[in-house]
Amino acid sequence: MRFITADLVCPISSAPLTGGVVVVHPDGRIADVLPSDSAHLPDATATERHSGIICPAFVNAHCHLELSHMKGLLPEGTGLDDFIGGIVAQRDAAHEAISAAMAHADAAMWQAGIQAVGDICNTSDSIAVKRSSRIRYHSFIELMGISPERALSVFGRGTGLRDEYAEAGLAATIVPHAPYSVSQPLFGLIASAGGAVSMHSQETASEDLMFVSGTGALLERLRSLGIPMEGFTPSGQSSLRTVLPLLADSPRIILVHNSFTAQEEMHWANGQHRGLFWCACPTANRYIEKRIPKVDDWLRNGAQVCIGTDSLASNHRLSILDEMKLLACHCPSIPFEDLLRMATINGAMALGMEKGTGTLERSKMPGVLLLGNIDAERPAMTDRITVTRLV
Ligand SMILES: [Zn+2]
Repeated sequence: MRFITADLVCPISSAPLTGGVVVVHPDGRIADVLPSDSAHLPDATATERHSGIICPAFVNAHCHLELSHMKGLLPEGTGLDDFIGGIVAQRDAAHEAISAAMAHADAAMWQAGIQAVGDICNTSDSIAVKRSSRIRYHSFIELMGISPERALSVFGRGTGLRDEYAEAGLAATIVPHAPYSVSQPLFGLIASAGGAVSMHSQETASEDLMFVSGTGALLERLRSLGIPMEGFTPSGQSSLRTVLPLLADSPRIILVHNSFTAQEEMHWANGQHRGLFWCACPTANRYIEKRIPKVDDWLRNGAQVCIGTDSLASNHRLSILDEMKLLACHCPSIPFEDLLRMATINGAMALGMEKGTGTLERSKMPGVLLLGNIDAERPAMTDRITVTRLV
């Protein structure tokens, strides 16, 4: 049994403990979290002492592991329509290069304190690395198909891929890529599959333009990629108002990006679905659209917020701590405790993994992190903070 202490222990599920002690089984399971004056503590020499704050490991709610080989390939600040064109044109590579990049990214995420990941998949490429990873993954099998006649065949391919993940012992559900890339019949089939959903939403202003008036750069880009858009009819409403009702029966929905979601629309959406999570990927938003959402406004709206890194095609590192630093810089009014919740338990709940991860609680295996270079008496997120995995 390990006894680990620091200046402050933040279990997340309960109030922070000054000088608290985390007791950990050899297999990583939490045996107990004790106050500094507990009668159950061993003598001081048997306790590992650290300077800083102890917290549960992070949850990355949105990643695309299979795009890891695209690091640095796409220019920054070009906008989503050009970015999508770049992904389509450049994602092909040798199988060995894709596998090596994924293995490297998986190891780097573990090292950066990430315990669980919600990962978007278009292929079976990531199965091997996930099977041998210490990270717990939920794989979201992402479908695209704007032509209604092709809905059944696209869905059939999706269920086949989901079954491949399931046969490998990996949790997987079928999800829509985005409101603009999935036909209504395909949305219906995805909803009928009944699993947790993750969907890119309102990442660019031209997404709503497409739905409201059938115009804009995104629609033009989809046409230029040779995607037949005749099956698409503008609804006269925003993309989110158009498609959220189609997912009403999904147990949980993670909406990713939301850079252009109006606050009244967020309020409306929270009233539509109780299992709604809003995922912020600030570095990717800065990379692609040069616009970081006002996540402090999301919190004032009562949103359940989690954090994602997106892929290495639109990020330089897969680090939840880096995302927290950028959010704190851009939205300084977000309290440190709220940032920690977004990075841990909120992501765990969004992925349906809250029974095992996201808090320091007895019998969970959440991973244990040390945040260093931090004022434990008045914790605040700064660029100086470091993360070390203890468990
Ligand atoms: Zn994404």
